[in-house]
Amino acid sequence: MDPILQRYATRATPRYTSYPTAPHFQKGFTQTRYREWLDKLDRNDPISLYLHVPFCRQMCWYCGCNMKLASKYDPVANYAKTLRKEVVLTAEALPDRMKISHLHWGGGTPTALNPDDLEALMAEVHEWWDFTPDAEVAIESDPRTLTAEMAARIGAMGFTRASFGVQEFDLRVQKAINRVQPPEMVRKSVDQLRGGGVAGINFDLIYGLPFQTVGSIVETVKLSAAMRPDRVALFGYAHVPWMAKNQRMIDEDSLPKAAERAAQAAAAAEALVAEGYVAIGLDHFALPGDALTVAAGNGTLRRNFQGYTTDQAKTMVGMGATSIGRTPSGYVQNIAETGAWSRAVEEGRLPVAKGLPFVGEDLLRGDVIERLMCDGYVDADAIGARHGAAAGWWEAALPQLQEMAVDGLLTLRGGRVAMTEKGRPLVRLAAAAFDTYLQDSTARHSVAV
Ligand code: SF4
Repeated sequence: MDPILQRYATRATPRYTSYPTAPHFQKGFTQTRYREWLDKLDRNDPISLYLHVPFCRQMCWYCGCNMKLASKYDPVANYAKTLRKEVVLTAEALPDRMKISHLHWGGGTPTALNPDDLEALMAEVHEWWDFTPDAEVAIESDPRTLTAEMAARIGAMGFTRASFGVQEFDLRVQKAINRVQPPEMVRKSVDQLRGGGVAGINFDLIYGLPFQTVGSIVETVKLSAAMRPDRVALFGYAHVPWMAKNQRMIDEDSLPKAAERAAQAAAAAEALVAEGYVAIGLDHFALPGDALTVAAGNGTLRRNFQGYTTDQAKTMVGMGATSIGRTPSGYVQNIAETGAWSRAVEEGRLPVAKGLPFVGEDLLRGDVIERLMCDGYVDADAIGARHGAAAGWWEAALPQLQEMAVDGLLTLRGGRVAMTEKGRPLVRLAAAAFDTYLQDSTARHSVAV
């Protein structure tokens, strides 16, 4: 590995799916405040919805999500009933019958709901909101548990996109992460969804898993590309056992070291490009002509908690335990513990727990970080001017950026920062130069590559 890249690769950095990042959200945020934020929304602006289902039938050892094991359906059924009530509470708190431009079901595994419960929830959503004609309606699924009936019903409900955690096809790796799903199983799910009318398919792949090699991830890319998903996200496994206790099931000795991780990331990216995919942002790939590729080309790519997106809405309303939302006034996060979340909803309260009102330069710095993460380039003065900031407002970021410039990772001209080809995988570190919260932070993050 290039010794310069090696020096940076192990630095811990946020993923910047938001700014300020989630560890800075403050406890004690009240539903009264959230209701004020919702009430202030421009009723003509479409909004996005995010619905969270934390249940999974089996636990993957690498998982870093807020998930609950569901061996029986009763808790899932109860959760679905409560989520339906939260949909109503939320809709009533909005200033009008608003339009939805994006709806995303995430988890956990949203298809852990049975088809009738998912359909009832979608019916409730349609009861309260209208969708824009080009709205994206997406759901995360799991090939190990997706049934033919669910795939057909998902199509009939009008979903336009489904995503699968494929991760890695090598059986030894799959066993070490407790997620065995042969390629034929994934292909069957993809075919069923496409057959049901779901046109968009996303795959998530992961490098840096136990026993993974450059050869195994390249083979995984080839097997995946043969199924022609429209979009592929390529993430580095974040080993954070102090936060995700299930990761203690992974033997640290079986994890690839920094140089091997970087080699896997580079080889997988190269293989995806060789298969005809266009590299987008830090870690996404899409077929030419896909809306994500188009957005990356014309500077309208956005970044949110789901990663890179075409979603242009200023507001994302999250529902379900632990879900995060964003309004023009700030971020908000629901209660994480499903029992407490459920009690709050049953009592008629919007079940928020944490929030972060935008103050000072938060929006300006968030815009700069988002453009860097999306475009690999930013003109900090141009964005500053739009926010009323004086030229050179970014000077405190200079020492960190200059260090990266000297190492050939970016070019720096005035406030114009452009990642070089070599520095592209380290864009999070350049973004961190603009993060004033990070300096005081005690939060531990995953490594940069
Ligand atoms: S399916 Fe996804 S959310 Fe569920 S345990 Fe596996 S990685 Fe975690």
